[in-house]
Amino acid sequence: MADVSERRFVVQHHRASSDHYDLRFEVDGVLVSWAVPKGPTLDPQVRRSAFKVPDHPLEYLDFEGVIPSAQYGAGDVVVWDRGTWRPHRTDDPAAAIAGGSLHADVQGEKLRGRFVLVRRGGEDGNAWLLLHKHDADAVPGWRPEDHPLSVLSGRSSDQVRADPDREWHSDLPASEASIPLRWPEVAQDDLDALDALGGGGTWEVFGRRLKVTNLDKELFPANAERPAATKRDLLRYTAQVAPTVVPYLAGRALNMHRYPDGVGRKGFWHKEVPDHAPDWLDRWDNPDADPGETQTYVVANEPASVVWAANFGALEWHPWTSRTGRPDRPTYALVDIDPGERTSWDDILVLARLHRTAFEHLGLVARPKVTGRRGVQIWVPVVVGPGFEETRSWVEILSRTVGAAVPELVSWRWQVSDRKGLARLDYTQNAVNKTLVAPYSPRAAAGAPVSMPIDWDELDDPELRPDRWTIRTAVPRLRERGDLFRRVLDSPQRLPRLS
Ligand code: MN
Repeated sequence: MADVSERRFVVQHHRASSDHYDLRFEVDGVLVSWAVPKGPTLDPQVRRSAFKVPDHPLEYLDFEGVIPSAQYGAGDVVVWDRGTWRPHRTDDPAAAIAGGSLHADVQGEKLRGRFVLVRRGGEDGNAWLLLHKHDADAVPGWRPEDHPLSVLSGRSSDQVRADPDREWHSDLPASEASIPLRWPEVAQDDLDALDALGGGGTWEVFGRRLKVTNLDKELFPANAERPAATKRDLLRYTAQVAPTVVPYLAGRALNMHRYPDGVGRKGFWHKEVPDHAPDWLDRWDNPDADPGETQTYVVANEPASVVWAANFGALEWHPWTSRTGRPDRPTYALVDIDPGERTSWDDILVLARLHRTAFEHLGLVARPKVTGRRGVQIWVPVVVGPGFEETRSWVEILSRTVGAAVPELVSWRWQVSDRKGLARLDYTQNAVNKTLVAPYSPRAAAGAPVSMPIDWDELDDPELRPDRWTIRTAVPRLRERGDLFRRVLDSPQRLPRLS
């Protein structure tokens, strides 16, 4: 029989609106939790105030990273201590806690010995005291702030805040709430194996086995400046960029723009999982499919999924702007600066800079990227809440205000034949299942261009071009500059009223 008396505990140092330590004990499938403002101590002379806070899901046990602003508990979290514990004097810790007293023998990396939690009242009975018994593990004068580093990563709270590995999204189901921001890079051995495969075979990448075919087929023709690229080139690029792209695709339905016979041949949108897809690929049934119809989408929750999509002929990756948990609630507002036939690159830059000024003026986080074709797009992270009508009309007001400054460049007519070759500021992309191409996605065009995030300052770089980066140059650029789009993942914002 399993030893059910030994359970896990964790202490997370949590710097939110106040700095505190969350002491959490595994009890009956949840983490029963107390916030301890000054932190637990081994000093038996010291009594600490502790406040009972809502139970947390077990998935939170090893969470270290940041909780984005506008979410409950926004701030940084490190796993300050963890280990196992046993209730003392009782087999039913839930009943002991309900009765206002818990004796816990803990075996952590920092904390050891017997702790006692005693309820002392408070308005909702949530005020408790925490103390350490006078036992062999007691250490007079022991202070938690002298032992600040994470037992998970060895990092300080400041280091985790500056460069977090994960985010916690409490608005998502617990199994999906811990979102990785970083994945291990593809192994050089995996890339070497791809090169050694010949025309096709079984490729093991990111620990998954994929049947890859037609590796020497040309998918992207050459253009004046750039060579052609094969399916092998596409898969190599995809594997290199997948760890960076996955956070933009995870938890979202994926629309795949497929060109199985390459650019210049027939392309089509593929929104459903094909029958031959591997079992490990995550799927999502759209609850808003027409009655009697099933729409099962691919959800690329791991790097191998993106490689699978590329091998399936998806030259472009277009994730939904909403997550599958709330498909009617966007997490980004999108500005799409879409050139007309007569629009020059300089015209696009004028429109992009005017949007830059508008976002600076509004104090909003917004990130631009070149599309890899001719345009520029700007993504604005928003809190989960407003529906698409709201983000769409917000972007319409913004873009009409911007467009009014340069009426000679912009058309508000949607038919290409009516636009007189002018640019369009396409706010209508803010709608369910309308998507823009993901950052770092290749584009189905000669020379294999990529949609590349840029710094706002780069709008003033005379070398900038909408198709400046390709599947050959995007990875060195990413290594050099880091992921410039990252803030759209961790800055959910309320859109201010525009008038
Ligand atoms: Mn907390």
